[in-house]
Formats: sequence, structure tokens, C-alpha cells
Amino acid sequence: MPAARVLIDGPSELVFDYSIPEGMEAKPGCRVKIPLRNRSSTGTILDITEEMPTHFTLRPMGELIDPEPLITPKLMELGKWMADYYGTPMELVMRALIPESVRQESHSEKTRKVVHIIDQPDEETMDKLAKRAPRQHLILTLVDAAGGQMPLADLGGGSVTASVKSLEKNGYVELKDEAIRRDPDEGEEFLEDQPLKLNPDQAAAMEQVIAQIDQPEKPMLMHGVTGSGKTEVYLQAAQRCIDLGKSVLVLLPEISLTPQTVQRFKSRFASIQDQVAVLHSHLSQGERFDEWHRIRTSKARIVIGARSAVFAPLTNLGIIIVDEEHENSYKQDSAPRYHGRDLAVLRGHIENCAVLLGSATPSLESFHNTESGKYHLLTLEERADNQSLPIIRIIDMRIEGKKHKGGPAILSDPLRGHMEKKLAEGEQVILFLNRRGFARSLQCPGCGHVCECRHCALPMTYHRAEERLICHMCGHQAITPRKCPECGDPAIRFQGYGTEQVEGVLKKCFPQARLARIDTDTMRRKNALRDTLRAFHQRKIDIIIGTQMIAKGLHFPNVTLVGVLNADLGLHVPDFRAGERTFQLLTQVAGRAGRGELEGEVIIQTFTPHSPSIQFARHHDFLGYADQELEFRKQFGYPPYTHCALIGTRSNHERRAEFTLENLHQRLKTDLPDGITLGEPMPAALTKAHGQYRFQLMLLGHSARGLSRHINKILAQTPPPEDVTIVFDMDAMGF
Ligand code: ADP
Ligand code: ZN
Repeated sequence: MPAARVLIDGPSELVFDYSIPEGMEAKPGCRVKIPLRNRSSTGTILDITEEMPTHFTLRPMGELIDPEPLITPKLMELGKWMADYYGTPMELVMRALIPESVRQESHSEKTRKVVHIIDQPDEETMDKLAKRAPRQHLILTLVDAAGGQMPLADLGGGSVTASVKSLEKNGYVELKDEAIRRDPDEGEEFLEDQPLKLNPDQAAAMEQVIAQIDQPEKPMLMHGVTGSGKTEVYLQAAQRCIDLGKSVLVLLPEISLTPQTVQRFKSRFASIQDQVAVLHSHLSQGERFDEWHRIRTSKARIVIGARSAVFAPLTNLGIIIVDEEHENSYKQDSAPRYHGRDLAVLRGHIENCAVLLGSATPSLESFHNTESGKYHLLTLEERADNQSLPIIRIIDMRIEGKKHKGGPAILSDPLRGHMEKKLAEGEQVILFLNRRGFARSLQCPGCGHVCECRHCALPMTYHRAEERLICHMCGHQAITPRKCPECGDPAIRFQGYGTEQVEGVLKKCFPQARLARIDTDTMRRKNALRDTLRAFHQRKIDIIIGTQMIAKGLHFPNVTLVGVLNADLGLHVPDFRAGERTFQLLTQVAGRAGRGELEGEVIIQTFTPHSPSIQFARHHDFLGYADQELEFRKQFGYPPYTHCALIGTRSNHERRAEFTLENLHQRLKTDLPDGITLGEPMPAALTKAHGQYRFQLMLLGHSARGLSRHINKILAQTPPPEDVTIVFDMDAMGF
């Protein structure tokens, strides 16, 4: 007899198995009644197993609340693929597919009482009412003026119920319960804007997009420099689908960080505003429930959201758009560890609709797919509004350092000088400092030399406890040098100052300037980012100092100078994607300058001015960068030529986490087939988080499915001790 695994409604999210009564057509995603201890409860079927375990009997499930599952068959197919590819139990996949607020009845529709006129009294009766019952007369007049219906609350709520009841008794009005949408954007108004006339590049891209909407064949990658008008192409592609009666899914890296893009969609589709749904993390449970049902019932046909919106239950999809497709935030960092962009491509295939990925700095994975013919490449080479790309200057901090006693200042002389000039002219400045990366590399301030691993060509990480350098890719170890191996400078040391310190420096250097700092510490309050950006837009702020929160998609016409304080910070981290990320970040940050009438300038401070990521970014040369970086990846067997998986252990006990991984490593070593490269176990870049010690080990293989299947088989055969958790991350993005 088959059994069903059911996720019980309620805050504790319990999961129990039940047998399925004969004849019942239970499917995953169905809502169901179930017995729980001595009462009856409700839940959602997560998974169905054909054979029931024999060693104990299961209680039978109650009846189905609705024979229709909450998710579409196509999304179910996507879910099954995910479970297999990412090696995640179906249970966790289903939780990702159906938001909690949808599974749990308690958030179901909110209603309100509305007064409807069903029989408007004639004038004579109205005159009588005016004298005898002025209140009733007033209600009828107001409701009539409002078009025949009005919420009770707007008429005064409880204070008028008696009068409304009398009117109802006389058959003039009816009081109805109506579902109301909890509109997250209530009160906001959007001015409709009109489509722009496409320039030749955009028109050529659009032609291909239209062809793909009409007859989907393969995904498209649109490579367009910052400000080249990619968003306009998205908007017109969306319009095309709407005109055809189809729906549109738009994925953005992080909704709260891309308010301007969301605004542009809302403005363009202002006339069908109620068909646009925006899914973001700030929605209340009730709002999420309502938005989900609006999508499920095809009331909303344009869905804009971050990563998880890839599961939006749209039907009849015309196109899936993934903006800034290279962004890391598309990767989910808890199980199921899916990549939103990759799922978008797969969903496009399942739904047979067009898929449009876009970026100024495409990921090498996607770009490689255009070279191999899997994707179409669309190119927008120039800025759309006749602006030229900003001029980028590189400041060699090794030379700057020699000018000052005690090493280089945070602001180099040229950067400081330029800032003074721009501020004097009433223009705005953005300073950028990427503090990310926990592992720190050893770099010489004299010559810029970074200690690298012989085997991996990646920076090694300093481990204080062992007084040693360790390669986080392959585990190779080396002695920490006391002076620079290249130039003999004893000042070799770690990089490190953060945005907070910069803020202090700026206050001293520019006491008159109005300053804002944007990072996760200062932007905790809801809407803090939106408000700060708005103030910046209104020129109430002169300088913004920020982390990567300000790198994306922002458009400020009056910003003429962008300064990157330390381009090396993201570069010398032990991750083969460090260079790619730095190139992307520099290009994106530079793209914030000169987006108006005024010409833009960018100043990049670095200790390694000759590194390819910096040089190619300086020349706005994505193709050149991709070319040489792909060469490096190929040579060392990194993605996109292979798939990369990480196995991690986490525990409160350091030794047990380490030991478990070493054990696994032994098993993998003997059982893995040839063709899979197995790294050594080592402490994770973030050695301890949330009180847990973390160790990891990397695997590279040509077939993703093969990699995932073999590893999962071995993991299943080697259960960890109780106090150790194992993490498996397929197509891992961060180390
Ligand atoms: P991207 O998304 O590639 O960064 P945007 O879509 O933000 O570029 O476009 C940059 C600027 O160029 C915007 O101000 C936009 O209004 C303008 N723009 C885009 N397409 C056109 C066009 N065809 N004609 C005139 N201006 C355009
Ligand atoms: Zn190495």
C-alpha cells in the first residue's frame, strides 16, 4: 500500500507518514485532513512512496481537502528534477515550491463587509428618509455616489450598522462579505510611461526575442554594457507576451536592492497595475498568500521577484527574464541549494517558453553556453542614451604608499583631489568598498605580491593558530613568510579596513559634505535603503560610501565620480571565481558613473594594477576578459568546463566535524569512479559560523548528474554522527 509524507500545518512544521486509503487519488501538493494524536488536523502532501515500510503500521490519511494539488504539474516536474540534481529530499523541495503562507490555512483570504445598493428608492422615498432617518438617507447618497457599493468601514463602521441593518431590512441594500487583496503597494501611484523607440542594437535583439517568444528554441543571453537599455528590451518583451495573452516572469537578484527596476516595470504596466505581482521578502504572510493566489488564478500575469519567484505558479508563460544573471544571490544557501537562473532555464524548457538572461558582465557559465551554441547571444554594445562609458583610472597604491610615511592613506591623493573638484561643482560621488570575504590573503604593500598556491594559482589563506598558509582549494600548506618573497619587504601583511572607518576619514576630509553609509549594518530598518537612495536622488546627500549593496542597477544622473577604494579585497580570496567576481563588480560599479548629461569618471585604487580583472574592466572589455579567464578555467579544469560540488561538515565540536569529513574523504577516495577530481578536507573559508565549526571538501566532475548521484549514494551509506550535519552543495558558488 502506498504511503504519503505529510507536512502538518502549524508553527512547528511536523512531518508524519500516513497510509493512503484505497481508491484515493492523493498527489504531492494536495491539501489533506489527517488524524494527529487524538484530534484531527490538516496538512500538505509532500511526497508519496509506493511501498509502505513493513515494520510498523501507519494511520490512514483522512480525506483530501481539495483533489487539485497546490502546484502545477510542470512545477512538480521542476521539483523532481531539483530533488535529483541537487541531491535534496523531495520534502525540502516541496517546502521551497509552496510558500508556508499558502500551505497554512490560517492565512487564507481576508474579508471585509461591503454595502451594496440593490434597490435604489425613488425620489419620494428618499425625501421621506431625509426627514425621518437622515442617517439612512446619507448612507444611500454616499453609496450611490461611490458607484453603488462601499466598504462598511468607510461609512463609519460600527457606528452605522444599525442604520445599514434597517436599510437591509427594507430591501434597499445588502451587506456582503468580500475578499480583499492585501496590496503591498497600496497607496503608491505609478505614472504610466511609454515604450521608447528602440535603437538599432536593441531592435536587433528584440527581433530575436520575438522569434523566441513565438517559437522557443533555446535560451538567450543578452550581453549589454551598463546603461545600454537592456531593461527597455525586457519591458517590450514583456509587453509582447501580455499582448499575446501570455504571462511573464521576471527575476531580479534582490528585490530590495533593485527598487529602480521594479519601479520601471510598475510604471510601464501602470494601466494593468492589478495584473502585476511583486514577490519580495518583506511581504507579510497574508500579503504573500494573496499574491500567490492572484498568480495561481491568473489574475496577476506579470510576476517580478527574487530567486524563489522562479516557482511562481504562473501558467501559459511567454517569457522568463533573468536580469543580472551573473549574480551570486541567485544561489540559495540552504537546502535545496538551487540556482535560480539555472532553474529559470530549465523551467523555460519545461514550459516551452522563451528565456532571456541579461547582464553587463555575464557569468562565464552562460557565456560559455553561447560559444558552444546552447544559447543565443544578443549584444548591446553602447549606452542607449548617447552617453559614453566612463573613463576609468587606476591608482597604483604601491606608489601611493611610498609617498606617505606609514603606508598609503585610505583615500589616495588623486581620488581625494577629484572628490574635492566634483563636490565643489555640486556633483555627487559614490565610494565603494567591498569588505566581503572572510579568509584573508597575505599581500605585500611594496610590490603587490600575493602568496599563491603552486597547484591552483589561487591565494593561500593565513591560519593564525597553525602559523601556516593553507590553500583552500586543494589543501596545500606552506610556511608563512616573514618578508615578501618577491621584493624582501618585511611589511607584508593582511588587508583590512571597513566602510565604518572610511566614513570617519571622509568626515575629517570633507566636513561640509553630506554623507551616507550603505551597508548591512546601517540599512537594517525596513525601507532604510529606499529612503537613503531617494535622498541621494534628490541630491540631499553628496557622498555615498557603500558595500556591494550599491553596486547594482542604480541610476543617478548626477553621479560623476565613482571611487573603488580597494579593488584587491575581493580579488585575493581562495576561490577560482574571485577574478571573475572582481571584474563583474568593478564593471558594475563603474557603470554607476556618468548616467546623465555629465561625463562620468571612475578611480580604482589597487595594489595589483596589472591583474587581468582590473585591466579588462578598465577597458570595458568583457570579451577580452572572458577569453583569458576561460583559458585559465580550462587549464585547471574549473567550471564551466566541469561542475563543482562542495561537501561540508558542521558541528559544535571541531574535531568531530573534521573527523567526519576525513572519514567521508576516505570513502570517496576508494568508491568514486575515475574522472572525478577529489580535493582534500580543510577548514572552510568561514571556519566558524553560528557557533559551528565548518570543514569542506571540493569535487570537480564533468557530468553534474554523475557527480550528484555518486556523492549522494556514498553520503547515504555513511550517515554522520548525531552532532554533525553534512551539507552537499551542487554547483557551489561560494567557498
Ligand atoms: P541597462 O538596463 O542596460 O543598464 P537601462 O535600460 O537602464 O540600461 O537604460 C539606460 C538609460 O537609457 C535609461 O535612462 C533609459 O531610459 C535609456 N534608454 C534605454 N533605451 C533607450 C532608447 N531606445 N532610446 C533612448 N533612451 C533609452
Ligand atoms: Zn592549491
